[in-house]
Amino acid sequence: MHYDTDILVVGGGVNGAGIARDAAGRGFSVTLCERDDLASHTSSASTKLIHGGLRYLEHYEFRLVAKALAEREVILRLAPHIAWPMLFVLPHESSLRPAWMIRLGLLLYDSLGAGHRTLADSHAVDLGSHVSGVALNDGYSRGFVYSDGWVQDSRLVVLNAMDAAQRGADIRVRTRCQAAHVESGVWHAQLRGADGRRETLRARVLVNACGPWAGSFLGSALGRRKHPKLRLVKGSHIVLPRLFDHDYAYIFQQPDRRIVFAIPYETDYTLVGTTDVDYHADPADVHIEADEIRYLCDAMTRHFRDPVRVEDVVWSYSGVRPLLDEVGNASSVSRDYQLGLDSAQGAPLLNVFGGKITTYRRLGEQAVDQVASALGTDRPAWTAHGDPLPGGDFADAERLIAAWSQRWPWLPVALAHRWLRHYGTRAAILLGDAVSVHDLGQHFGAQLYQREVDYLVCHEWARTSEDILWRRTKLGLRMNEEERRRLQGYLETAVPGRTDGPLHETASETA
Ligand SMILES: Cc1cc2nc3c(=O)[nH]c(=O)nc-3n(C[C@H](O)[C@H](O)[C@H](O)COP(=O)(O)OP(=O)(O)OC[C@H]3O[C@@H](n4cnc5c(N)ncnc54)[C@H](O)[C@@H]3O)c2cc1C
Repeated sequence: MHYDTDILVVGGGVNGAGIARDAAGRGFSVTLCERDDLASHTSSASTKLIHGGLRYLEHYEFRLVAKALAEREVILRLAPHIAWPMLFVLPHESSLRPAWMIRLGLLLYDSLGAGHRTLADSHAVDLGSHVSGVALNDGYSRGFVYSDGWVQDSRLVVLNAMDAAQRGADIRVRTRCQAAHVESGVWHAQLRGADGRRETLRARVLVNACGPWAGSFLGSALGRRKHPKLRLVKGSHIVLPRLFDHDYAYIFQQPDRRIVFAIPYETDYTLVGTTDVDYHADPADVHIEADEIRYLCDAMTRHFRDPVRVEDVVWSYSGVRPLLDEVGNASSVSRDYQLGLDSAQGAPLLNVFGGKITTYRRLGEQAVDQVASALGTDRPAWTAHGDPLPGGDFADAERLIAAWSQRWPWLPVALAHRWLRHYGTRAAILLGDAVSVHDLGQHFGAQLYQREVDYLVCHEWARTSEDILWRRTKLGLRMNEEERRRLQGYLETAVPGRTDGPLHETASETA
């Protein structure tokens, strides 16, 4: 049997990248193809919570909540640079849910996460004296505080892909899997690059990690007439200039019994979301509607002292949740996932349906367990206790920043903090031999220098200004049209040494 790779993963969202990393770490040869940029769809459009999902308790999803709470700790350990604990304030509204019910729910939430937990316990607060009460309307006297985690979702995807590549995986961005069929027990997949280049890749196992396209991929690329249906639910977020002066996030109950988060975002902003709207069009065309913007602004005005107007919105994004097809309203459909191993065509096909950012690692582990057993091998799982993601090999962020300011005393404090939160110890690769800020090269605006751009192209598969400004970083929030155009011009003409994957040096080798 001739083949080019053990496993072809189709889809470079969080699930595809997590599966590729896990499989490469178990010694399988892996190719991942992503038709657009890594994380260009659902995996960059989430609320970015690493959470059990407090509200899922109301739907009796205890198993999902416990699984997700266990993962919360694992991700915080794996990626201390891009993921961190966050405290959430839930102002109490007696007309919606009685205080005893919320207290009980939080106790359950704490106890389902017990055993793995380093995060603080939930507790009640007096909003008349607590810092989080200052920005709120007068109507709130009592609230509850609980812990969850937060992650830069698109960076999580890129770091998983980088780690997979460092373990030997071949990561191909802007490469679509157009069709695949089985011949002599091997998948023959037709891949097409954005440059029009076509290739047939032979793989022993095909993994369908196409997110919202997982169902349609089975029809269009594999010719399956019957395939499971996903329920597609759109969710949108708006970004506003900072609405409050502290690090707590808020979880607000709405009169329609939904919840909306207001989260400190990129230092100067507040992230507000989400909506839940059944969606029937192409997931690639998803965008926020005017009534969603109004709904989210009204939700903020209902709770904050100062009204929030539609004109205040500085950015918005929308994504499509690929959910298991269930009846019920869009916000109550399960956020759990299903893996389906299918050998009907003569070679293993693993389908990934549903999921959350929070459970991606566990999903990847279970997916590769199933793939390994389909290939008749037994290679132990490793990601729960294995190495952190690239750049996450540090224990104390403040000490790391202090060490950088000794070695690179000219490094602006704000830049050091941003690079810590994006690259962790790998910031040493960016800083390298620089002896002044001028050595970082051309300045594109908002403290984005040429060195960072070159790094993102050479190590993180960035190709366009969009990849850099909205997925590898969120500097798009801070740069004007002219600055963005200049960056795009640089990427099209001047960028040196473009590679098709990350170079393999580590921060410690270059520090
Ligand atoms: C509004 C919203 C809020 C959310 N909030 C949270 C949250 O706070 N916490 C949480 O844990 N989860 C959250 N989620 C869920 C989470 O974002 C998703 O479950 C997760 O990102 C899905 O990842 P994925 O890899 O399955 O899909 P995607 O990220 O969409 O990746 C699939 C990829 O497959 C590619 N692809 C498709 N077809 C092909 C092909 N033929 N060839 C090559 N590539 C192909 C696509 O381009 C795409 O990039 C949220 C989701 C939404 C929409």
